[in-house]
Amino acid sequence: MSEQQEQARRLRELLARYSYHYYVLDAPLASDAEYDALFSQLQQLEQTHPELRTADSPTQRVGGAVLEGFAKVRHPAPMLSLSNAFDPAELLAWRERLTRLLPDSLSEGLAYVVEPKIDGLTVVLHYQEGLFTLGATRGDGVFGEEITANLRTLRDLPLRIPVVPDAALVLPGRPAAAARPPQRLVVRGEAYMAVADFERFQAEQAAAGGKVYANPRNTAAGALRNLDSSVTAGRPLHVWAYQIVAIEGGDFTPASQWEALALLRALGFPVASQNRRFEDAEFDALVDFVAAWGAQRGSLPYETDGLVIKVDSFAAQERLGFVGKDPRWAVAFKYPSQEAATRLLEIRVNVGRTGTINPYAVLEPVPVGGVTVQHATLHNYDYIRDNDIRVGDMVLVKRAGEVIPQVLGPVVDLRSGQEQLWRMPERCPVCGEPVAQPEGEVAFYCTNSACPAQLVRGVEHFVSRGALEIEGFGIRQAELFVAAGYIKDLADIYYLPWEEIVALEGYGEKRVANLRAALEASKGRPLARVLAALGIHGVGGVVAEALAGHFGSVERLMAADPAEMETIPGIGPKLAAAVHEWFSHAPNRAVVQKLAAAGVRLAEERAAAEAGPQPLAGQTWVITGTLPTLSREAAAALIKAHGGKVAGSVSSKTSYLLAGDKAGSKLENATKLGVAVVDEDALRRMLT
Ligand SMILES: [Zn+2]
Repeated sequence: MSEQQEQARRLRELLARYSYHYYVLDAPLASDAEYDALFSQLQQLEQTHPELRTADSPTQRVGGAVLEGFAKVRHPAPMLSLSNAFDPAELLAWRERLTRLLPDSLSEGLAYVVEPKIDGLTVVLHYQEGLFTLGATRGDGVFGEEITANLRTLRDLPLRIPVVPDAALVLPGRPAAAARPPQRLVVRGEAYMAVADFERFQAEQAAAGGKVYANPRNTAAGALRNLDSSVTAGRPLHVWAYQIVAIEGGDFTPASQWEALALLRALGFPVASQNRRFEDAEFDALVDFVAAWGAQRGSLPYETDGLVIKVDSFAAQERLGFVGKDPRWAVAFKYPSQEAATRLLEIRVNVGRTGTINPYAVLEPVPVGGVTVQHATLHNYDYIRDNDIRVGDMVLVKRAGEVIPQVLGPVVDLRSGQEQLWRMPERCPVCGEPVAQPEGEVAFYCTNSACPAQLVRGVEHFVSRGALEIEGFGIRQAELFVAAGYIKDLADIYYLPWEEIVALEGYGEKRVANLRAALEASKGRPLARVLAALGIHGVGGVVAEALAGHFGSVERLMAADPAEMETIPGIGPKLAAAVHEWFSHAPNRAVVQKLAAAGVRLAEERAAAEAGPQPLAGQTWVITGTLPTLSREAAAALIKAHGGKVAGSVSSKTSYLLAGDKAGSKLENATKLGVAVVDEDALRRMLT
């Protein structure tokens, strides 16, 4: 072995070990920077010596050539279906049946393994001499599709086993064995997307106008069956190994499911940590475990529809055999569904903040998971078309966690023939202007940038928590002020006709004063918040931070070339073009100018400190009692906006106590300590 060969081997082994600790054990050994450094070292080595590149190199996880189609693979053993149990009584009946069938010699040490049933895509993984050589989908159970290149991109899937070369397998009652790979090993597992990853992915897709999926399962399936493995590499997928389908050679042959799981774990496969083993005498505890699992399954990091309970011993499994296609030795316990069927009465659309036209379903009210559901999202036009959802259909509706209910698809067998295909309206339901679908996007948009629906949503976003956070300003104010004609663009928020507003019902002096103070306070928010508030397509909190950090001011960003934006990590050509285009429109530039004229901070802290006066800098304020016009929150915001700090209690470090009516112990303390006491008027005078 040449020196370089040896170096490449060592790097591969080290990187495999690092990702195993990171992705499978969730206990990183090295920093990201360290990993990246070793990774690029290996990459360089492989670039100068392509002959050193091996199939198990971590550099091969990034995806390769685009395929024309998938090859078919025959599975070594046909995939089984499982019989179902829906309540504890059925579990007890299952156990009774199998103990009757087993001879005493096998029922004596009878035990069960309980495993979570993850809602993902079943995959079959082949290893020859420790090397991952082939991966396939379940397909029809006999033949699957070969998706080796796609599976290679899953970070927790071992490309070579054992992942940690010196790992050992220790099991009670068995001699310790080195975790050396068998000559041939075929493993069944489940590839899936975690719920949190799915929600993040979904939000990113929606923001970019891309395809959205019904659930993590479909997303994982779509990613794994993509002909371009570099697309798969970009999706946050995981895998769990749960069954050995074939094993030849090696130091250890498992005699039970529990031993098989232990072997898989020792070889470096991710194995569900929630797996449990119960002796037959503990069957009550097993039933309790199943019930407890059901109660918490909504809060698990992955989607599951139940558990699988297997007889542990392979000898007992063999003896029990099959009835039809179902093995007698396993049962799937399924929990009541969070899905229901109901009639789709109508499809309506609403207009989103960025002008997207979003279809949603009006349903015959139906209880789903304890809540009556009447509306459900349909995501976008493609979703309706791809799932062939028609008005009048009986549809399946699903509720999962905190997510808004969604229509999964039609029950085609229940169609009467009266169902109607739905078409995207040609005009915006709010302003009547044409609706268009930009090339390459899934979403349809209202083309009118002055569309009141967009403006209301835009204002609502502008004043929201992640943006300029204007207290007391919400969707109601947005609707009212847009409808009254006070707000025609976002900057008008700072030019409201207060003398008219104060005359409106429900808007007294005090409320108006609070609103004005909140608006005043919002002018000093960090630049990133202002950028996020503008509602530029694709610019959320993270991107806004990146842009603010790089450019430091709106002025510089406005003048920037898209190519410069692309140098910022996380900003691609599409996003850079969108930002550039937004600032190239005259009405948008006018908004920016109006914001600047109103005194909104459009540059980073440093520049702002030079530009804007901070009369309260270095001072600590305490607020007490009822102020004549401001709420305490508004007063605090006002003080902070002018450089002051606000504390909760009076001490010798307090600069001023702002006191209103019914001031109590704080006023006493301030008097005792000789702290200056001022009223609201005095505060206002100090700000000008
Ligand atoms: Zn419109």
